Amino acid sequence: MLEIKSITVQYGPVIAVKEISMDIRQKGITVLLGANGAGKTSTLMAIAGLNDLSHGSIFFEGKRIDRLPAYERVRKGIVLCPESRLVFQKMTVMENLKAGAYTRKGGISGEFDLVFSIFPKLKDRAKQLAGTLSGGERQMLAIARALMSKPKLLMLDEPSMGLAPNLVVEMMAAIKQINETGVTVLLVEQNAFSALKIADYAYVLQTGKVVLEGSAEDLLQDKTIVEQYLGG
Ligand code: ATP
Repeated sequence: MLEIKSITVQYGPVIAVKEISMDIRQKGITVLLGANGAGKTSTLMAIAGLNDLSHGSIFFEGKRIDRLPAYERVRKGIVLCPESRLVFQKMTVMENLKAGAYTRKGGISGEFDLVFSIFPKLKDRAKQLAGTLSGGERQMLAIARALMSKPKLLMLDEPSMGLAPNLVVEMMAAIKQINETGVTVLLVEQNAFSALKIADYAYVLQTGKVVLEGSAEDLLQDKTIVEQYLGG
């Protein structure tokens, strides 16, 4: 669905991503692992159109997209939910969700049903101001808002960051549920084990390069890999 061909991302003299290639398969969950500063966020931003490439190309559903502005990529169904959990604080949960659907032309009641079935807590808090939600609820809202645009490819940057262990489990289950509705997921996670348990395929980045890739199942079963790359 998404082919990343030898892309390089630079911030001035700093090379954050160096000629990496990845193949994100349709309807799967692909996870991007790696230590802090490995280049995971820079890769997602390049796919979303928020970082320029200094080398390489990106194809989505067979068409080259790396020169399209970010908003056109959103229209094509490529949506990034960034790490910062930015929601419109002075708007209610419901208003935030409506804002997520602004690129949609048809009715959005189906999307409301979907996000409330995945995140029932948000339904209970529909009229609450987003700024008063807990960190975990805000994360749910950020993802739910992204879903309102009906993405084909949903990119999530560290959705479990800062969540208590039981909420990490809930979050991973929600991501799996989203995927089961037909949305392709590209997930960046520090929480390697939880992510690999729901993923189909994984790439491991180290200082801007892909150092390892394979099926999630194979990675989880390889003791050397677990010790060397996934924190034991
Ligand atoms: P983290 O898990 O800490 O978010 P990451 O794997 O997502 O890490 P990136 O945020 O993509 O890594 O950063 C990759 C490299 O690029 C790092 O060395 C970082 O310092 C550098 N970098 C990222 N953003 C910028 C920027 N705006 N200006 C300069 N350097 C940057």
